[in-house]
Amino acid sequence: MTNPLYDALFAPHEGKSTPFLHLGDGKTVSHLVFLQDVARMANALVSLGVAPGDRVAVHVNKSPQALVLYAACVKAGAVFLPLNTAYTPRELDYFVGDSGAKLFVCDPSEETDLQGIAADVGATLKTLGTDGQGTLPDIAAAQQPRFDTVPRARDDLAALLYTSGTTGRSKGAMLTQENLLSNAEALIDSWQFTSKDVLLHALPIFHSHGLFVATNVMLLAGGAMIFLPKFDVETVLARLPEATTMMGVPTFYTRLLDEPRFSRGLTAHMRLFISGSAPLLAETHQRFEERTGHRILERYGMTETSMNTSNPYDGERRAGTVGFPLPGIEVKVCDAETGAEMPTGEIGVLWVRGPNVFKGYWKMPEKTAEELREDGFFITGDLSLIDDRGYVHIVGRGKDLIISGGYNIYPKEIEVFLDALPGIKESAVIGAPHPDFGESVVAILVPEDGATIDMAAVEEAVRRDLAGFKRPRHIEIKDELPRNTMGKVQKNQLRDEFAGAFE
Ligand code: ATP
Ligand code: MG
Repeated sequence: MTNPLYDALFAPHEGKSTPFLHLGDGKTVSHLVFLQDVARMANALVSLGVAPGDRVAVHVNKSPQALVLYAACVKAGAVFLPLNTAYTPRELDYFVGDSGAKLFVCDPSEETDLQGIAADVGATLKTLGTDGQGTLPDIAAAQQPRFDTVPRARDDLAALLYTSGTTGRSKGAMLTQENLLSNAEALIDSWQFTSKDVLLHALPIFHSHGLFVATNVMLLAGGAMIFLPKFDVETVLARLPEATTMMGVPTFYTRLLDEPRFSRGLTAHMRLFISGSAPLLAETHQRFEERTGHRILERYGMTETSMNTSNPYDGERRAGTVGFPLPGIEVKVCDAETGAEMPTGEIGVLWVRGPNVFKGYWKMPEKTAEELREDGFFITGDLSLIDDRGYVHIVGRGKDLIISGGYNIYPKEIEVFLDALPGIKESAVIGAPHPDFGESVVAILVPEDGATIDMAAVEEAVRRDLAGFKRPRHIEIKDELPRNTMGKVQKNQLRDEFAGAFE
């Protein structure tokens, strides 16, 4: 038996002095050095009693050693469980308890606070700091740089990744070796990554995007990453000349566009810019092309499935769409109630089937049964349509759908309309309880930098161009929309804030 994920992603680079990570301080970590550290770390895990299938919960800042820990879990057959660095001890208590982690690795600064949580679930607590120091690396340093990779089947779990919690409590998605490997293979083909690529990596590595999309693809391709602790405009501008490709969330691209030094000259050598995790406004796509001559390639995925669809590498990258299903992956749009497939161009819920689809939610058999059908289709909960050219459009989340007086209202349609009005940078449209209609529409507007929004003009445009039931009946201006670290608008928060708008 072998370990398919380790054998494909890591083993081919053992002993090679090729560059893997170019760090913020200018140093480079080769594949050879990285993989020796991985073997030491795998020995450390075993010495701490971590057995194949055990969960290793990880709440640490982004660093090369954090990636070493990921690779060591794969090598030792453990289940890697990265946690959002923003989580507080109260939140961590849920994740560590829910997952029944055997080992809990945290930043040295939070060791004292987390001792109780670890003790409650019987997890061993060790530390790993951004500088690579801590009680876990101390153990690893004393180990041999050799480790016999633990055999795994394709169906064995490689990771337990919690969803972002945008629509409710985060759910643990059980991801197998096959899920992760098949997706990295599909993405390499689709985006034409090779060992010559250098990816600018400024994403967090506790999320599917930075960990599985970015890192797994670069490992499989054998290329290098400019591995930055976070997205900092100055650093990104300074390091871009060394990169061939970049992956980012939409806010990375809007922040770059805010910077006049981000120019055609600075990006002329780049092969590809990729966006995902949240919708890229068509306007951002167009401004980016005007400024740089590059068309951002937008793709769509989720924690449960990794990537599902992507705009084409060759061929038209259509703004406002997420492209076509990736090789080996099927998608269809179905009626939310009956499950019948919708005709072309009509909105329904997106279903996905393929080797990328997860094994189920951790300890949630009922939820798994509701969303993961016996025929292999996963009901994503995202509202979408497929146009006559086969491009998938994500229209919003099922949970954000507004039903007013019996009519379905798709927030994105109204947001796109509002965004195009003068002085409006972006908007969020939500439903709030309404005594007559069940729900009615609330719009939150963010002004363009330095602009003031002419409310009378907005109200007139809305009256003139939107059907009565779609018109926002409560409009508010805010400096910015609440977003999480992946740039996702937190509509739950807005719904709470405006719950009394029509009382
Ligand atoms: P939770 O499931 O806990 O509510 P979440 O769905 O935000 O949180 P993730 O798995 O991180 O957690 O995000 C996946 C979701 O992100 C998708 O279901 C989709 O709604 C959205 N998404 C990802 N990429 C895109 C994209 N390119 N365009 C529009 N939406 C996207
Ligand atoms: Mg989700």
